[in-house]
Amino acid sequence: ARIIVGMGTCGIGAGARGVLKSIESELAKQQIQADIVHTGCIGLCSYEVLVDIIIPGRTRVTYKNVKPQTVPLLLEEHVRKGEIVKNHVLSQMVAEEGCEEPYPLVPFFDELIINRPQRKQILRNCGYIDPDSIEEYIARGGYEALKKVLKTMSPEQVIEEVSKSGLRGRGGGGFSTGNKWASCAKYSTDEKFVICNADEGDPGAFMDRSLLEGDPHAVLEGMIIGGYAIGATSGYIYIRAEYPLAVRRIKHTIEQAGKYGFLGENILGSGYSLNIYIKEGAGAFVCGESTALQYSIEGKRGMPRTRPPQSVEAGLWDKPTVLNNVETFANVPLVMNKGAGWYAQMGTDKSKGTKIFSLTGKIKHPGLVEVPMGTTIRQIVFDIGGGIPRKRRFKAVQIGGPSGGCLPESLLDFPIDYESLLEIGAMMGSGSFVVVDDGTCMVEMARFFMDFCARESCGKCPPCRIGTTLMLDILTRITQGMGEEGDIAMLEEMCGEVKTMSLCGLGQSAPNPIKSTLRYFKDEYIAHIRDKI
Ligand code: SF4
Repeated sequence: ARIIVGMGTCGIGAGARGVLKSIESELAKQQIQADIVHTGCIGLCSYEVLVDIIIPGRTRVTYKNVKPQTVPLLLEEHVRKGEIVKNHVLSQMVAEEGCEEPYPLVPFFDELIINRPQRKQILRNCGYIDPDSIEEYIARGGYEALKKVLKTMSPEQVIEEVSKSGLRGRGGGGFSTGNKWASCAKYSTDEKFVICNADEGDPGAFMDRSLLEGDPHAVLEGMIIGGYAIGATSGYIYIRAEYPLAVRRIKHTIEQAGKYGFLGENILGSGYSLNIYIKEGAGAFVCGESTALQYSIEGKRGMPRTRPPQSVEAGLWDKPTVLNNVETFANVPLVMNKGAGWYAQMGTDKSKGTKIFSLTGKIKHPGLVEVPMGTTIRQIVFDIGGGIPRKRRFKAVQIGGPSGGCLPESLLDFPIDYESLLEIGAMMGSGSFVVVDDGTCMVEMARFFMDFCARESCGKCPPCRIGTTLMLDILTRITQGMGEEGDIAMLEEMCGEVKTMSLCGLGQSAPNPIKSTLRYFKDEYIAHIRDKI
């Protein structure tokens, strides 16, 4: 038998270590032979600890909310006697040897039977393979894209393929990945850098952490391909120190890739060499901004700088540098393996492929969701997430964290992609998706995000440093029933000033939650001020 235990941070938080210990001791006690596989998050965080029992040729069963005390029963009944323990089952399906479906048959995942909209492409291995095992990644087609690239393609061809696929940066900006790589590739210098930005910091965002915990080799493979395309001599993964499991996994991944010849000198005999280093960030949100991140790697204070020059021309240590986010790199092996044409079929006219969202807040099934670009908010909240718990009503969703916007019920059927979100006053951001029910005050919500931005402002430029604090003061007064006539007009004016006069994306987008709540929920501001509530 193969027993899979969800050991992402969400699983561990729900008690997976205790479950694992119990499985190990119970297998020894009952003298049962089984392979135990540790995986990352499968996406359905609300049912952790998830344990899959796969007996080849028999039904594959996913058990939910497993506790250490449930384990003896599962092993005795299911593994020893072949009887499914029905009251703990999340889903079951026929497992054909060698091609077991990696996701349980439940509405959260199922796209075949009831037309649920998830498409697990980037997350295909998360929750299924052991992320610490390069062999399992290779067995599922891992490093084939790198082999193909190094053996059969020139850097120009790689860039052309990525450009044709329409892949755009998943960190928030949505810049064409192919164009970025091409802009960097044209500079010939003694040193060039490729950087993976894993400094995920939006409240409610955990896409990058889950990818690094669940399928780190895919991220690394994409990064090596990117390095080859631009001619990088070294690479850095800038990752939050608050993600200890992801840090440990990516360190192990780099070691394994080196042992297999996918990293280091003369990769796969191609003549191309690349070493990748890890830099742990100290937790400043602004270090997710590319120039601040590069300063931080250089050992300087992490503060954004003016541009130009752009990083592709003079980035890390003033050398040409490409910086992409974790999810962007994870897309690259797919593009190279399946082709730009295949990739470009998914999504909308201008936004191709799938996008991962971390679905949280007032939602029945919080978790990690991957959908094609163009999926509607309703599909994500209701078809996948199961709707709003405790019989409350959907009120809004905050997409894109503090730089994003709050969208109301009237936009439930709006398809999400880079352009459409901008049209309605939001931003893709990195992909946090926080659902709000009718018990939430939208002014308080805007205040929460402004508080975050004011705290995280690096202080370099006055419009952001002072503007965010002043806007926070006004919002605090309003939510405490001390708002005054003229506050709304003042907020509107300051939003415009902070947006246009701030140096970096943090300040430029800090007003977004106020702007979108004023656009869609102005009556709540007015009620606070008028009724002194
Ligand atoms: Fe720093 Fe804010 Fe200015 Fe960005 S906009 S440089 S975070 S003060």
